[in-house]
Amino acid sequence: MVKSSLYKNIKEVLETANVCNRCILRFFGVKEYTSYISKTDVEKSIEQLVNLENEVLNQKESDQDNSSDDYPQSKRFLPNPCAACLGILQGTCDEMVTKLADVVTKSEHKFKDFVLQVSLPVVVDLRDRLFLFYLRQKLGESVCADENIPSVKDICKWVIGSQYGKLTNTGFTPSSDFQILISSTYPNTVKECFVLFKNCAEAFPNSRKSKVTAEGIYTKTAVLNAMEALSTKIEKLYTLPPSPPDKCCTFHEIKCTHSPLYLGGRYNKYSRELSQTPWLVDGERKMESSVNELITDVVKRRILADKIVFSASGREDVDVKMLGDGRPFVLELLNPRRLEWTTEEMKAIEEEINKSSDLIAVKNLQVISKSDTLLLKEGEELKRKNYSALCLVEKVLSPEDVKKLESLKDLKLNQKTPIRVLHRRTLATREKLLHSIQAKIISEHILQLKLETQAGTYVKEFVHGDFGRTCPSLGTLLNTNADILELDVENIHLEWPPKPTL
Ligand SMILES: [Zn+2]
Repeated sequence: MVKSSLYKNIKEVLETANVCNRCILRFFGVKEYTSYISKTDVEKSIEQLVNLENEVLNQKESDQDNSSDDYPQSKRFLPNPCAACLGILQGTCDEMVTKLADVVTKSEHKFKDFVLQVSLPVVVDLRDRLFLFYLRQKLGESVCADENIPSVKDICKWVIGSQYGKLTNTGFTPSSDFQILISSTYPNTVKECFVLFKNCAEAFPNSRKSKVTAEGIYTKTAVLNAMEALSTKIEKLYTLPPSPPDKCCTFHEIKCTHSPLYLGGRYNKYSRELSQTPWLVDGERKMESSVNELITDVVKRRILADKIVFSASGREDVDVKMLGDGRPFVLELLNPRRLEWTTEEMKAIEEEINKSSDLIAVKNLQVISKSDTLLLKEGEELKRKNYSALCLVEKVLSPEDVKKLESLKDLKLNQKTPIRVLHRRTLATREKLLHSIQAKIISEHILQLKLETQAGTYVKEFVHGDFGRTCPSLGTLLNTNADILELDVENIHLEWPPKPTL
């Protein structure tokens, strides 16, 4: 156990070096974060440790004083920013709380708890290291080990987090979906780290790149690597104790982000002139709208988010209808202002989408989890599909043709990548199963097929043969030429998303 006389000596050495009370408590090795929140508590904790024999008496006093709700100013006055934390723990973090409350209110986020991330200049790590060297120089090896000193960052997070949580009646927890990121600037980073670069240039890889600013060279990783590489040599490179800085570290940006919100559902498409996603050729629109836009335009109006990303389990062509139970799709909403939505609210959005257009319909719209979205991707590879295809055939059809087609079960098709998709898929021959065919003669040359296929089968190509690239094809099976007139997707065998619980 550290003796009270050592605490007294640490306190004296650090006070002379212009170090703030919270930092003195850090260098004592106190890890109870609650001791750091109010400045009076910090002073009391220091006093208690310095005068351990009076501990019982002081404890009683501090218990009484702790009932007060405010955070009074420290009695000690330092003319310059603290030489260890650059002023962050000295008062900058306390002032941050109201500013934070302001920014978060304006961002319109709704949340019950939050997680806080603070990015601080690497100089605070460097100065901590130098102060430890200094304390050991003055007081010997019994001073706290490096790893036992809580970092400026952890204390800063704790002070801001608990004060802000108290102010807004929200929980400060590392597992929250709502992240607040505070970043800082310190104008002297380059000046203070230059000596590291001079003595360990190899730790700064960005210095060899052109078009890199001075700040870009002194990244956190580079400076920490240089400190590691130079090890104990650092104490000879700097004057000890580190002098108080002439400028404070200031907080300059607050960013609030909710984890993504995922919505799942299924859509039907009743048009043969509507693409699934905006169809652009050389930056020019080919179709007025798309399934994607018809859905997301409404969702955008109802749910405030930075961006909405639409994805579906596969896609049908522009001229193919999507009937039956529809096609599963996911919306990923980035940084939504609210994460919790009721079944009724989802129903209302779904109805609004369905009222807004006759070209599509949406069903089962619901909030889903991220793991549900992965199930959708897995399902894409496995699901069977049913199609209805209207085909034009050169020869005059006979009942024998129907019989022949209907006798085929799990027919193996070899499909070379279709010409029409060669621009986005690699050239390969893929084997696909045509599980079953039902055929109906509509007229002498028109045949209606109901097909059940493996996922990824190109049905249009099965019908017209794609210049021999798909084999067998309807034409080769019936010994004639065939082409496709109309195609509908009638069913996708994938139970997804889970039906909403009523
Ligand atoms: Zn400090």
